[in-house]
Amino acid sequence: MKVGVLALQGDVREHIRALGDCGVVAQAVRRDSEIRAVDALVIPGGESTTIAKLARSFGVFEIIAERIASGMPVYGSCAGMILLSNHVLDAIEGQETFGGLDATVRRNAFGRQVDSFEVDLDFIGITGVPVKAVFIRAPWVESVGSNVQVLASVDNHPVAIRQNHILATSFHPELTADNRVHRYFIEVVCKESMKVGVV
Ligand code: GLN
Repeated sequence: MKVGVLALQGDVREHIRALGDCGVVAQAVRRDSEIRAVDALVIPGGESTTIAKLARSFGVFEIIAERIASGMPVYGSCAGMILLSNHVLDAIEGQETFGGLDATVRRNAFGRQVDSFEVDLDFIGITGVPVKAVFIRAPWVESVGSNVQVLASVDNHPVAIRQNHILATSFHPELTADNRVHRYFIEVVCKESMKVGVV
């Protein structure tokens, strides 16, 4: 399986390292041909408005949105979660997202209270000790459609959600040594989506 990390802006290297810890040699991808060639994609943390604008100027916005809509497994952390959501509150004017997740997220929602913080999270589908989650000017999820599964929450706000082949977290597991969220993406989300694809 070829996994790409969208390398327009954001913490690309950290995701490549985390995937590497799970035994996956991921590639930084930004060109049309590179994006067409991957089986799964990770959209990093960073700045959602910048990533969307760069995707437009690199001419890859549509292909990313299309591949997500047609079932390519994708995981987005923080800015990546925003880019995967169909609706964004506190967006800048004209802010676009690739979409796919039947969810509404609020940008910088935790950031209004405190810029960054860490919390121990119970995460459905991840066993063992809680996941230590790092939040940096993070969005939270305001509402989700009935087809979206909430995997983890902070103060009743979902911070990890999944809709079939799409996984998103408000926090940054790529900034910690705990690779279980990446492993969940590779071993559960990708595997299940690809099985459906084959049938
Ligand atoms: N606040 C950023 C945005 O709106 C996300 C921050 C992050 O990815 N750490 O894109």
